[in-house]
Amino acid sequence: PKNRIKALLLENIHEGAIKRLKEEGYQVDVHPAGMTEDELAEAIKDVSLLGIRSKTMVTEKVLSKAKRLLSIGAFCIGTNQIDLSAALKKGVAVFNAPFSNTRSVVELALAEIIMLMRNLPDKMTQMHQGKWNKSASGSFEIRGKTLGIIGYGKIGSQLSVLAESIGMNVQYFDIEEKLALGNATACPSLEHLLMSSDIISIHVDGRPENEFMIAHHEFEQMKQGVVFINLSRGHIVDIDALAKNIENGKIHGASVDVFPEEPLSNDHPFKSPLMGMKNTILTPHVGGSTLEAQENIADFVPSKIIEYINTGSTTNSVNFPNITLPTLSQAHRFIHIHKNEPGILAEINNVLAKHGINIGGQYLKTNDLVGYVITDIDKNYKEEVIKDLKMVRGTIRFRVLY
Ligand code: NAD
Repeated sequence: PKNRIKALLLENIHEGAIKRLKEEGYQVDVHPAGMTEDELAEAIKDVSLLGIRSKTMVTEKVLSKAKRLLSIGAFCIGTNQIDLSAALKKGVAVFNAPFSNTRSVVELALAEIIMLMRNLPDKMTQMHQGKWNKSASGSFEIRGKTLGIIGYGKIGSQLSVLAESIGMNVQYFDIEEKLALGNATACPSLEHLLMSSDIISIHVDGRPENEFMIAHHEFEQMKQGVVFINLSRGHIVDIDALAKNIENGKIHGASVDVFPEEPLSNDHPFKSPLMGMKNTILTPHVGGSTLEAQENIADFVPSKIIEYINTGSTTNSVNFPNITLPTLSQAHRFIHIHKNEPGILAEINNVLAKHGINIGGQYLKTNDLVGYVITDIDKNYKEEVIKDLKMVRGTIRFRVLY
């Protein structure tokens, strides 16, 4: 019964998520702050669903105390606060919201491209100081300009579509083969993109190899008067090299939302070599921070968790093998999570054969650590079947859905 499923939501998760989980019939406990490792290790004992944001550390120790945990929802984008493989080994599926704020970042990037091309940061500052500086010098339309997008993932490709729709020529560089949207073209190399773009916006992911991928050498390759935007991650751009190139006039304007060192909270001061530089927009890591994005997250994460609980589907799970299941046409669905060792599927099927059960549909996916197998059967079964299936070698968790 669903009311036996207890959800614990920490860190002020949006009320939309609470409502959604309650509507599904779950018990929902809300704890607005985060929890320390020891507090969470105690609180998690009888919890089936844990919801957190970026601050709560879900460690192996915490997970070892969880007796009933089925799933963790990270109500944010990042998941490095969770020990994903420890969760996987316990059969706990983790979900996040990988594209709930994509559109918000793209809108900000577009706005900033226009503002920087018009020299607006400087003009705005001057107006606030009582200086009227009416002049077209250094101001350009974005129509017909070439936008170079580095990293053509969720954000990069969405920016591509919107930028093209307001008249820009779009080119991109990605280390992976990507479908070019609209009239965008792929650059053969990063160097090619750097040398031929009027505006450069970087949207690569934060993997360690991307540290300083834009540094002195890359700024040297850019066109004179380029506009440069970083809304990705702070360590990707060498901030001193950026400051130097704004200073010497190579860069016409820059926008930076993410920094190598960011203040821990709103109570800590912000310091950066970019402070006070001309035609430079500095924002406090708010690229994805809109109320719409918060609502999207509060809708997306519970819907993935509820789908997992109700159907076994792991689409978009960050640690589990992803299986998208057809809607059930058979009588019952068995969910079996096991250590990834050879021969386990055969053992499961031997148990079913021994009990004379016919398999209506079966879906298996594995990753390095676990195998995830779903078996739909067409008629009733005896309790012994369940007992035998739970005894199968390597079983981490077994669940009957219907
Ligand atoms: P994504 O994973 O969908 O896309 C990243 C793309 O970059 C991938 O296509 C990948 O192949 C490519 N890539 C990685 N390394 C590369 C390299 N060295 N050269 C070229 N391409 C490379 O990620 P996303 O959702 O589009 O997010 C992009 C970035 O934006 C991430 O760094 C993310 O953390 C950041 N982000 C920032 C905010 C904010 O508030 N400012 C909000 C959301 C996301």
